[in-house]
Amino acid sequence: FAPWNDPDEKPLIRFKSVTKKFGDFTAIDDLTLDIYEKEFFALLGPSGCGKTTMMRMLAGFEAPTRGVIELAGQDIAPVPPNKRAVNMMFQSYALFPHLSVYENIAFGLRRGDMPKHDIGDRVAEMLKLTRLEKFAARKPHQISGGQRQRVALARSLAKAPKLLLLDEPLGALDAKLRQATQFELMDIQEKTGTTFVIVTHDQEEAMTVASRVAVMDEGRVIQVATPEHIYEMPNSVYVADFIGDVNIIEGTAKPVGSERYEISWADNKAPLIAASERPFSEGQNCHLAVRPEKIAISAERPADADNAVEGKVLDIAYLGNISTYHVELPGGQIVKAQAANTRRVSRRTFTWEDTVWISWTATAGVLLPQ
Ligand code: ATP
Repeated sequence: FAPWNDPDEKPLIRFKSVTKKFGDFTAIDDLTLDIYEKEFFALLGPSGCGKTTMMRMLAGFEAPTRGVIELAGQDIAPVPPNKRAVNMMFQSYALFPHLSVYENIAFGLRRGDMPKHDIGDRVAEMLKLTRLEKFAARKPHQISGGQRQRVALARSLAKAPKLLLLDEPLGALDAKLRQATQFELMDIQEKTGTTFVIVTHDQEEAMTVASRVAVMDEGRVIQVATPEHIYEMPNSVYVADFIGDVNIIEGTAKPVGSERYEISWADNKAPLIAASERPFSEGQNCHLAVRPEKIAISAERPADADNAVEGKVLDIAYLGNISTYHVELPGGQIVKAQAANTRRVSRRTFTWEDTVWISWTATAGVLLPQ
């Protein structure tokens, strides 16, 4: 249903049945996953699901209890952290306060075996890549938060690692700067061709920067796919609910033609119609997941909608570009519908207690078994 691996892509990292236990506790549970060369990969999931543990195993700070992790075809278990072509950038940036921007970037190179004149060239290249040329002589306290973040990035990339691990890299930046920096990160990732793996609590951030996203729960990967695929075709109620806003309607399925199902739900009078490539048998319990922006709201029953249900407006949230309506349906279920505020709303189109129709097409929702 969701492609786990793309045969055309070359894996840089392979987790092969990796389990990590801390005492009796299983932090990573028999996890198999490929991360491709040159991709920007995001790990998403609730606190404690094992994201940091995966990063720490890649960096070499933890070893798997079972299974193998490969980097470019080699088992990395015998390779100590400082010999891995892997670098990790922390949220705190950990810049040296007494060293200039230039020296912060050069620091790791000086400790390696790079010739002196090559170090100068490499630092210059990194300063250019991160647009920090003008700030080379300044100390970390003499530059802005966003610039400090770029110094940390330049320093992490200076030794040209194959893999860069980013743990909440933008956590210290305010919302506006964070957005701008996301695009910069994407640009730098593309220019260097380094594989980036990011851990972030901000799902919008993951969806923005990543080419693929893994949604995790309790040490397992539940779904891995492109952001669009994860959003439009979640493989479970867990993923649908974790990414973005969603309405879940429980019911039982009845096949009514090719990839079409009638769903009996709380309102027995009006079964819903859903399209699904995933097969369901007659009477099988199912969950219909429909995103709020795919549900239209109108005063009259729309003539040609696959699904139209009458309800009552309970709540309205005006969010500037859109408004979200909470509509109570006959069975007592509350469904969120969104309308774009493309014109100036001087007067609300609908108000509390209004009777309205919500409608959506058969293909707007995703039918899920659990
Ligand atoms: P967060 O988003 O909060 O950072 P996470 O997804 O990164 O969470 P991990 O830090 O990987 O989660 O932790 C996964 C689980 O393993 C947690 O339940 C954590 O308590 C446990 N854990 C992690 N490190 C250790 C350790 N050294 N000893 C015991 N348990 C640990």
